[in-house]
Amino acid sequence: MKKISLLVLAMLFCFSAAVYAQQLPKVAILATGGTIAGSTDAGGTVTTGYKAGALTVDTLINAVPELTKIAQITGEQICNIDSSNMTDEVWLKLANRINTLLQTVDGIVITHGTDTMEETAFFLNLVVKSNKPVVLVGAMRPATAISADGPKNLYNAVALAGSPLAKGKGVMVAMDDTIYGARDVTKTNTMLTSTFKAPNSGAIGTIIDGTPHFYAAQSRPHTTRSEFNVAGLKSLPKVDILYTYSNDGSKVAAEAFIKAGAKGLVVAGSGAGSIHENQLGYLRELAKNKQAIVVRSSRTGSGYVPNANDGTLNADNLNPQKARVLLMLALTKTNDPKVIQSIFDKY
Ligand code: GLU
Repeated sequence: MKKISLLVLAMLFCFSAAVYAQQLPKVAILATGGTIAGSTDAGGTVTTGYKAGALTVDTLINAVPELTKIAQITGEQICNIDSSNMTDEVWLKLANRINTLLQTVDGIVITHGTDTMEETAFFLNLVVKSNKPVVLVGAMRPATAISADGPKNLYNAVALAGSPLAKGKGVMVAMDDTIYGARDVTKTNTMLTSTFKAPNSGAIGTIIDGTPHFYAAQSRPHTTRSEFNVAGLKSLPKVDILYTYSNDGSKVAAEAFIKAGAKGLVVAGSGAGSIHENQLGYLRELAKNKQAIVVRSSRTGSGYVPNANDGTLNADNLNPQKARVLLMLALTKTNDPKVIQSIFDKY
């Protein structure tokens, strides 16, 4: 009799544990590499010279057993690279996989190198077709370091992706207990764990003990309100970035980009989008002859760039790498400079 009641109790316990687990949000982790999956044999105090993208998604998940208390987790390896080697191919693969997965899961976390995280985040912000949370996360210290920041960042990202509070906020970056909107977030420091900032509009929230607290929202259209759709695309239009600087030589770089097939050029201009006269003439000709779309952005790191009314377009306050993402997507829809300028004014 005693044995039977113990058996019933054990069954009840298992049943309620299973029911509890089923109530947890479903969060898919898509791993792409980066320092969060970085490893070195050189010891716990070493935070440089490690191999980014060395650990698999399962290793990342198993390193944070607390994840199973806040979500039903599944993991997928999309690629395992240093994000400085990010490609359009990976972006398209990620976008398509996310749009499929979001039909069945509650949220998505993408583990990613910090170097180009802001570009991937902004791209996804414009092509994900769901209001469910999509969160990018990474680490500044490899997994083998003392006080590695990856595990806590991953825990926060999963908590955010599984939270109903995060619905409709667009694609976010969760780093260092802080939530950033994809449009404005940027990496500002080569080494520090506090590297991510949103210089134009500020962070949109924080995550404390696994609970997100929002204080702002992304003001520009994203996800379900974005007009861009990459389903079925095999490639993206080629857009390159030019830099301007004192004694800027000539049109050599611009010409080479055009020769190599660039449909658009973003200039990291000085100040409010100024371009050295040595290359400005050529760029104006390109715009006038409709050979390429030329967009002025700024190398300062923040602030609005006005229109120069010379045939070149202005990137609003997008930094050069974000302006490039938007120009690529704009070129999937039109080559008309007027329409492309309105896209920059809107997004
Ligand atoms: N360069 C590497 C990457 O972006 C490491 C930087 C990082 O993840 O923090 O993947």
